[in-house]
Amino acid sequence: MRPIGVFGGTFDPIHCGHLRTAFELWQELKLAEVRFVPTGSPPHRDHLYASAELRLAMVGAAIADQPGFVLDDREVRRSGVSYSVDTLADLRREYPQRSLCLLLGMDAFLGLPNWHRWRELLTLAHIVVAHRPGWRAPGKGPLGEILVDHGTGAIRDLHERPAGCLLVHAVTQLEISSTELRALIVAGRDPRYLVPDAVRQIILETRCYAAQQGP
Ligand code: ATP
Repeated sequence: MRPIGVFGGTFDPIHCGHLRTAFELWQELKLAEVRFVPTGSPPHRDHLYASAELRLAMVGAAIADQPGFVLDDREVRRSGVSYSVDTLADLRREYPQRSLCLLLGMDAFLGLPNWHRWRELLTLAHIVVAHRPGWRAPGKGPLGEILVDHGTGAIRDLHERPAGCLLVHAVTQLEISSTELRALIVAGRDPRYLVPDAVRQIILETRCYAAQQGP
């Protein structure tokens, strides 16, 4: 059975950088599916802009026509702060033998040592790090160590074991971030081509980001 990719994020909003990364990893790593898991209450951010309901709707609309892309709302349904380790433990209970791959951008990977019980993540899943513009893989510190201890260059390892490997994989670099997108929308500019049309429609109709700008 091919691995399941788990792609968490605030997705506030989801954009083409997320989608292209997930698509390339799905194809190149031969994943059975990519589960998009929008965070409920994220531990690392003061607040979110669009509601959980809207962020789910935007992810749902963005991935609707892509086979293998799945929306997973478990973190939004769970009360309290969302921790990836709990999500992966949940998925591990559902799929005891299956290979699970936590998909991260390089910026998220560099922040990993601040995550709740982060060292347990590799006991539950593999970690796949997508190169992101402007970021370099660390050579030392705790992340440098796990790269040495768990690093692999072989996609095959992700298929043959359920968890425990760390793979850094290059993806097409699209310099898009949700923060910059929100700023662009607040400034009255059009996010066309940075987000899928269906997401742009939701943003325009609900004014979920423009509303932040005040009177
Ligand atoms: P923000 O600007 O609000 O921090 P973001 O654009 O980084 O948001 P998140 O929802 O926080 O989006 O990111 C979810 C995941 O997607 C993280 O693992 C992040 O590294 C990755 N990611 C975000 N933007 C890109 C991009 N342009 N290319 C590749 N990966 C990305």
